[in-house]
Amino acid sequence: MNQFLENLRRKTAVLMQGRYGVDQFSAFLSKAALVMMLLSIIDALSFLYSFGLVFLLYSIFRMMSRKFDKRRAENSAYLQLNYRFHVAISEHKTRMQSREDYKYFKCKKCGKLLRVPRGRGKLNVTCPQCGHKMVQKS
Ligand SMILES: [Zn+2]
Repeated sequence: MNQFLENLRRKTAVLMQGRYGVDQFSAFLSKAALVMMLLSIIDALSFLYSFGLVFLLYSIFRMMSRKFDKRRAENSAYLQLNYRFHVAISEHKTRMQSREDYKYFKCKKCGKLLRVPRGRGKLNVTCPQCGHKMVQKS
C-alpha cells in the first residue's frame, strides 16, 4: 500500500511538473462546482448540474495550464473581486448596525456614501471626496 501511494505521489509530481496547479480561484471554482452539483439533485435546480460541470472543467483546465501569466492574472482579478465583495458586505453590516444613530445618503455630485448623525435638523454637508456642498436633513 505504501509503495502504491509512493508511486501515485511520484506520478502526480511528474504530471504536475511545469503546470500551474491550485490557486484561490481554482479552489473557489471547485467548491462552487460541488455546491451546484449537490443542489442539482433538487428537481427545480437540475439546470445547475451543467454549470457545475463547466466550473469543474474550467478549474481542472486552470490547474493543468502551462500559461502561468494568464492564470495569475485571473487569480488576481478574482482576489480583487472577492475583496470588494467582502468590503461591500462589511460596509452594509456597519450601516445596518448604526442606522438608528446615523442617516446615510449619497453625494449628489460624485455618489460617495456619506452619513450625518440623526436628529440634528438640517445640516450643511461638504463631501470629503469632491468638495460638493449640500444641505441634508438629519
Ligand atoms: Zn462628492
